[in-house]
Amino acid sequence: MNKKIKSLKNLPDENGYYGQFGGSFVPPQLVEPLKEIEREYKKAKKDPSFQKEYSDLLKNYVGRPSPLYFAKNLTRKLGGAKIYFKREDLNHTGAHKINHCLGEVLLAKRMGKKKVLAETGAGQHGVALATAAALLGLECEIHMGSIDIAKQHPNVIRMKLLGAKVLDVTTGGKCLKDAVDSAFTTFMKEYKTTFFAIGSVVGPHPYPMIVRDFQSIVGKEVKEQILQQEKRLPDYIIGCVGGGSNAIGLFHEFLDDKVKLIGVEPAGKGTGVGEHAATISYGSMGVLHGMKTMVLQNKKGEPDPVHSIASGLDYPGVGPIHAFLKDIGRVNYTSATDKETISAFLELSKVEGIIPALESAHAIAEAMKLAPTLSKNKIIVVNISGRGDKDVDYIAELLKI
Ligand SMILES: *Cc1c(COP(=O)(O)O)cnc(C)c1O
Repeated sequence: MNKKIKSLKNLPDENGYYGQFGGSFVPPQLVEPLKEIEREYKKAKKDPSFQKEYSDLLKNYVGRPSPLYFAKNLTRKLGGAKIYFKREDLNHTGAHKINHCLGEVLLAKRMGKKKVLAETGAGQHGVALATAAALLGLECEIHMGSIDIAKQHPNVIRMKLLGAKVLDVTTGGKCLKDAVDSAFTTFMKEYKTTFFAIGSVVGPHPYPMIVRDFQSIVGKEVKEQILQQEKRLPDYIIGCVGGGSNAIGLFHEFLDDKVKLIGVEPAGKGTGVGEHAATISYGSMGVLHGMKTMVLQNKKGEPDPVHSIASGLDYPGVGPIHAFLKDIGRVNYTSATDKETISAFLELSKVEGIIPALESAHAIAEAMKLAPTLSKNKIIVVNISGRGDKDVDYIAELLKI
């Protein structure tokens, strides 16, 4: 570990870097608007009235703390380590994303903005942001790739019901990456009145830091809950990694502890055939969406087309903090294929009565591989980042059920 860093929780440095990753690579006209967001965020972070409003909403509107549930049936069936699930799927709107959306919309409101703007992949960020915007009385505009619009139709309807404008992105691969590009372009034109509320720990500084801070509630709760239930810290903590917000939200509180952290990327149809989105495992250093990070890219530095059965993981980049944690060896990044993910999805549904999001099923797949190799006194905590209601039609079609 880097000796100059006292605590991994104190990152990034004053320029927004996590080791060699992060920073802010944006057109000159966005430099000042981003600095203003950073200044205002730092003030809000220290302002007890802002923090109180945020934590009241988490408690009374989102339904936090989410349970830490001991999965007795799955544990018994696998015959190894004890498996606990952090139930972010039980949050209002069905995933962890509401945690940072409420924070971002509160910040936008504090800054006097009229509108929040964002990209969405699976539609989960769009729904969470539209929800927070409806609650707090701001306009909301969501950019979404055409392919995702078709695949995640119910979420599109939800966003519209919540009063958001959904913009169909027909450029490029018509997925998450293209939606980010499109939302960025709009932000450049409208930054005076609009707050860009990014959907993960990605983008230029200060976004990765802001989203991480708002998500860190997940790990803080887990620490309290596991100490209460088991009187000790877990041995392993597992989260799926798209941009990396649910994983870092869970990891952050444990970064300085003796706990093994595992991030699971989507191996898609198999990393051998190139149709995957396992950025940290197979990418190289590059600049994408305003940050220096690991990117799946060709020799010209253009992002590669990526694939995952989970729309929310379908992204050729990753949050700079994850690139850094991989670099220093603090987090172990593995991957799960679409096939392994579907097995985990079906298994959890049947054995525990929990239908997880396909994104979360990647983390569950890793836990199912790991648990049988460990003794019964070991403890694994897995983040169920969201619920699978949004995925059941897709699965039904795939399995012809
Ligand atoms: C969006 C999403 C993810 C992936 O995003 P991260 O920023 O990597 O957490 C994972 N799970 C669910 C349920 C999602 O909606």
